[in-house]
Amino acid sequence: MSLEFELSHTRQQYRDIFEQARVQLFTLINQGIQDISCAQCVITPEDLINDPELCLRPRHSGCGYQAWQKNAISVIEKQVARDILTRLKAIETYKESIQCHSCGVCCRLASSEFSYQELEQKAKQGDRFATEFTSIFLPYPSQEKAKEVYPELVADVIRLSGDPEGVYFYHCPYIGEDNRCSIYGTSKRPSICSSYPDTPLTFIYDKCAWAPWKQETHQDALMAHATIELCSFVLGKIQEGLK
Ligand SMILES: [Zn+2]
Repeated sequence: MSLEFELSHTRQQYRDIFEQARVQLFTLINQGIQDISCAQCVITPEDLINDPELCLRPRHSGCGYQAWQKNAISVIEKQVARDILTRLKAIETYKESIQCHSCGVCCRLASSEFSYQELEQKAKQGDRFATEFTSIFLPYPSQEKAKEVYPELVADVIRLSGDPEGVYFYHCPYIGEDNRCSIYGTSKRPSICSSYPDTPLTFIYDKCAWAPWKQETHQDALMAHATIELCSFVLGKIQEGLK
């Protein structure tokens, strides 16, 4: 029997998605505006999609491309922001309609590309996820020890990680024999547990009640997050130039 699960986005995948989000956003911005030109600036229609730095740069006074920048702000604030909110809400509503099967795998086998020391370091630097994670999870002493608990799953995670040495396994000591959380409803239970599986953790067990949810919404969620990141970059750049 092979256990299937989904690895979360690798950096390369996210870069690809970010690139897709960029083309989509700039295409949308350009649809709303036609026939702009400037006697002093040489910008082709292709540049307006493929060279963000060129069109986001501060404009000289009277530049024809100020209209493009104003349109970009308006498209992002009116259209894109609303669209992302709707998409994220739909993903959240779907997630909340699902009931946990209490398989316990998310508590007994969390994996990360970071060692416990690295996570502690990140926590010290103020990383919220790392802070919450290290507040409850404990590391397995080795991959071998994790394999004793979940032989096939651990082997699969290591095999698919792309970096067998760089996978670390963790477990939560607060799960009971009945697979119930002994700190449920207390302030000790961090928000990464209640927002599971909407976390940066590396895999989701295929028998998890949320596996289909993750499968169906993961791409869309990444795209939404990439678009948010991109929009804040674009708005920041343009507004900086308008000052
Ligand atoms: Zn100009």
